Amino acid sequence: MIRDVLSFKVCVEISGCTKTYPGGEYVVISRRLMLRTIRRLYTWSRSDPVDEELRGWNWDKPPLKPRAYLELGVSEIASKYCETRRDLWLKRKMSVKPEVSEQLVKGRLIHEAVSLAISEAYKFIALGWDPWSIYEVVKEKWRELLTSESKDFIRLCERVYKYTLITILGEVSYEDLTRGTRTPPLTITEFKVDGSNLGLSSSLSIDVVTEGSVIVDFKYGSLREFHKLSLVGYALALEAEYEVPHDYGLLIYISDVNGKIKITAKPIYINSHLRKWFIAERDNIIDMLLENREPQVDMQCYTNCPYYKVCHP
Ligand code: SF4
Repeated sequence: MIRDVLSFKVCVEISGCTKTYPGGEYVVISRRLMLRTIRRLYTWSRSDPVDEELRGWNWDKPPLKPRAYLELGVSEIASKYCETRRDLWLKRKMSVKPEVSEQLVKGRLIHEAVSLAISEAYKFIALGWDPWSIYEVVKEKWRELLTSESKDFIRLCERVYKYTLITILGEVSYEDLTRGTRTPPLTITEFKVDGSNLGLSSSLSIDVVTEGSVIVDFKYGSLREFHKLSLVGYALALEAEYEVPHDYGLLIYISDVNGKIKITAKPIYINSHLRKWFIAERDNIIDMLLENREPQVDMQCYTNCPYYKVCHP
């Protein structure tokens, strides 16, 4: 049944060439699928190891040492929707409040729905409850997420929440039946990490960190190259705080097309090239804010930019 309503694609990009693997019956966050997907990157990472100077624990020396500590959010650096970064200047220097768009509300709702389903499921899995009892107790919790802003997206919220729940509980059922024991949940949602040594916020929040130190970031909408930067920012912050390598990430795209939810997973090796890109973006933003340089209006403004009316009065 699930196969009828969802399609799941895995795209692996190696040296600029993307390979798409056939879909399966997996849904929002399948632990086995995630780890199998990441395994495909191992060969690549072994032949192109991360430069030591680009590990987060080297935050006290160049190139990681920031020129100023401005508590930047990872999303401020990684969301390059505005090419000139005028959006950041408006927000930080002119204190302009962004307009709330439908895209923004849907994106936030999906994050919250996935996160709530994981935390609710794991709470009862750890207590040894049967999967079907857990489902019965928590299946309507998604309603708590609805606000006046998001009430138009009830169906989206319910589906994302329940699919996430069913995926997790399905894996638990499989383990109960095949092994008779459960692997302790090693997935942590809304993982808090201090990025201040790198000039980032002291309270960064990562969507999911799962076993094998894999960082997971959920996105709503279409794939963009710069989405990889958010995984880099979180990897650097985790390395700075825990001094353990974080080399792999997974971007999970959720979109609703004609009422059907589509999932695409993109495994990412957080290599030296991506790390240098993130650091260069961070440094450019710091310079722009310190020097109070007003960026030009972007040549390709997107119409649902939350600052569109400010830049195009
Ligand atoms: S309207 Fe254009 S220039 Fe202004 S913040 Fe948005 S993308 Fe940037």
